[in-house]
Amino acid sequence: MIDIKSMTQEEMSAYFQENGQPSFRAKQVFQWLHRGVTSFEEMSNLPKSLRQMLSEQAYITVPTVERKQVSKLDGTIKYLWRMRDGNCIETVLMRYKHGNTVCVSCQVGCNMGCVFCASTLGGKVRDLAASEILDQVIFTQKDSGEEISNIVMMGIGEPMDNFDRVLRFLELVNHPDGLNIGMRHISVSTCGLVQRIDRLAEMGLQLTLSVSLHAPDDETRSRLMPVNRAVGVEKLMDTCRRYFETTGRRISYEYAMIDGVNDSDAQADLLASLLKGQPGHVNLIPLNNIEESPLKPSRRVRQFQQRLESHGVTATVRRKLGGDIDASCGQLRKKQMQGSEPCGRKGTSL
Ligand code: SAH
Repeated sequence: MIDIKSMTQEEMSAYFQENGQPSFRAKQVFQWLHRGVTSFEEMSNLPKSLRQMLSEQAYITVPTVERKQVSKLDGTIKYLWRMRDGNCIETVLMRYKHGNTVCVSCQVGCNMGCVFCASTLGGKVRDLAASEILDQVIFTQKDSGEEISNIVMMGIGEPMDNFDRVLRFLELVNHPDGLNIGMRHISVSTCGLVQRIDRLAEMGLQLTLSVSLHAPDDETRSRLMPVNRAVGVEKLMDTCRRYFETTGRRISYEYAMIDGVNDSDAQADLLASLLKGQPGHVNLIPLNNIEESPLKPSRRVRQFQQRLESHGVTATVRRKLGGDIDASCGQLRKKQMQGSEPCGRKGTSL
C-alpha cells in the first residue's frame, strides 16, 4: 500500500500517469490530503472509479486524539496522537503574539540519549513518515480550528536522524497547494549531527536552524549529551560557522539552564567566546523538571543572560508555556508509556 500523503505532487503526477490517469489529478488529490480528508470518498471532484483505485492501492494516514490537554494558564494545547500502528507522538500548539506555532515530533522516541530529556528514555522506536509529521500540523489545525503560521521541529526525536523524511516534510508543508508555510516560519532543532548539518546547508533553505548546545565545554557537554563524545564542541561550532556562511542564516543556540552544571559565569564567558565572529543568538531555556532526575533548574538564568550580554552576545530567556500540562519534551508520551495502555512500544513500521 502507498503512503500517498508522503508523496510530492510530482510523484503523484507520475503515479497517475502510470495508471492511465490525467496528471492534473495530482493537484486535486494533493489539495484534499493537505486539507485533512480522512478517506478517498471525500474527494468529491474525482471519478468514482479513481477513488476506488486509490482506496485499493493507497492509504491515508489519520492520527486520532489519544489525549488532549489545554493549559489554563496560556491556552497552550498539547496533543497525544495515536497513529496507524498504535504508536503515539506529541504535538504542542502555542499561541504567540506573532501567530500560532506548532511544535512537531519527527520520531517515536529518540536515540540521542540527552540526560535531561524525557523523549529519549525508551530509545527510538521508529522514524516518522513525512505524512505523519505533516499530519501533526494538519490535524492540530483541524482539531483546534486555529490557523498555524509557524512550525518548530522541537518535539520528540532528532530531525537530523530522520533526514530524508524531514526534508520531504519541509517540501510538502511549504507547497503552495498545501499548507504553504514559508521556510522563514520554520525552525529545525538539532543536537548537532555535523555531517547532516553540512548536508542541510547545501540545500540553502531559508529556515532557522536551532542547535542544542547546552554547554560550552566538552566535559560538560559530553556528560549531558552523548552525541558530543564523537564530535566535540569545537567541530560543532566550525560546522555552525560553515552553515551560516553557506546559507546566510544565523543560528539560534539553545541552552537549557541546569543548576550547578552549566550556569557559571566562567561558562557564560566561554560560551561568548565560542560565538565570537559569527552572528548567532542564544536562547536560554529554564530546565523543565524531570521527575527522578538529579538535574534541577538553574537559579542563575538572569545573571547568565546578563553575563552573555556584557560580552555583546544576544540572549533571550524562553517563556515557559503550558507549565500545567506536561507540555515539554516527551513528558506526556512518557506518562502514557508508564500507564496501563502501552503507547509507543510496538516498533512496527509503516
Ligand atoms: N533533538 C532535537 C530537537 C528536540 S528537543 C534537539 O536536540 O535539538 C528540543 C529542545 O528541548 C532541545 O534543545 C532539547 O535539548 C531541549 N530539552 C529537552 N529536554 C529538556 C528539558 N528537560 N528542559 C529544557 N529543555 C529541554
